[in-house]
Amino acid sequence: VRKSRTAVSIAGALGLSVVLTACGSSDEAPTSEDGSGVDTIAVVATTPVVADFVRVVGGDHVEVTQLLKPNVDPHDYEPSPADIAAIADADLVVKNGVGLEAWLDDTVESSGYSGTVVDTSKGVTIREGGEHEEGEEEHAEGEEEGEEHAEGDPHIWHDPRNAKIMVRNIADALSAKDADAKPAVDRNLAAYSAQLDTLDKANAAAISSIPPAGRKLVTNHDAFGYYTARYGLEFVGSIIPSFDSSAELSGKQLSDLVAKIRSSGVKAVFSEASLPPKTAETVAREAGVEVVGGEDALYADGLGPENSEGGAYLSAEQHNTATIVKALGGRV
Ligand SMILES: [Zn+2]
Repeated sequence: VRKSRTAVSIAGALGLSVVLTACGSSDEAPTSEDGSGVDTIAVVATTPVVADFVRVVGGDHVEVTQLLKPNVDPHDYEPSPADIAAIADADLVVKNGVGLEAWLDDTVESSGYSGTVVDTSKGVTIREGGEHEEGEEEHAEGEEEGEEHAEGDPHIWHDPRNAKIMVRNIADALSAKDADAKPAVDRNLAAYSAQLDTLDKANAAAISSIPPAGRKLVTNHDAFGYYTARYGLEFVGSIIPSFDSSAELSGKQLSDLVAKIRSSGVKAVFSEASLPPKTAETVAREAGVEVVGGEDALYADGLGPENSEGGAYLSAEQHNTATIVKALGGRV
């Protein structure tokens, strides 16, 4: 990107036509442009999670533009003109996939970008819907939600084994784009994959400290299916009964959920960082259980601000597990 912009501005200053220069520049052999000897790959990443993965794996070889800001809901995101401009200038675009970024295809098209869009979910076993029938009915009524639902559950990163697949897809794409980056990318990938293995083991150990009868989860929206499946928690229900955070429960569904929380002995309702906690608070109050929110809200769809506890994938997932385990009576 930096190179393209430089070419454009120099040519522009000289009053020359910039079209050919700008188009040709991104596929040139890497050259040193700032004296460091490293030419960076301009990557546009959609969500905070995939942006974090690209930064970790790409290291000095990438310059990342992250489209979704911290604590923003990705399900009904509206791309800005700046997002379109960033994609137009990108060497690579990286997405979560599984329909999470329903807005991306149109955005890429209007940017004129014709390069690779890396789908990090490639190779991940996608979890289908169907854990709660009420949600399915809701979906059948809403046309917009149908598409995402048809593709399955997009919240794949909450199982660290899926995160390993995602970072490998990113590493492959970066190395394919710039062979000079490959040795460093491979090293970063190996180190981070080991950290993901450690996270996975730590999560399992922490969850197993919860008394078996307490291993039950009620969340704000249905974002933790991969997590509950991996670590043996029972998913009792969510305030929003779907993968899409913009759906809403009816009054009857809410009172059914309250009854279910009471009868199953669930200890807490977890709200999440990118959604308003109001309904979760109401449900928890009516069911007579604790609502875990505020600073302790779960990172369900994104990450927190960069220098906060939830600013990176690893620390956000550690926060989630510690919060869940503490509220459900396990040892942190
Ligand atoms: Zn979500």
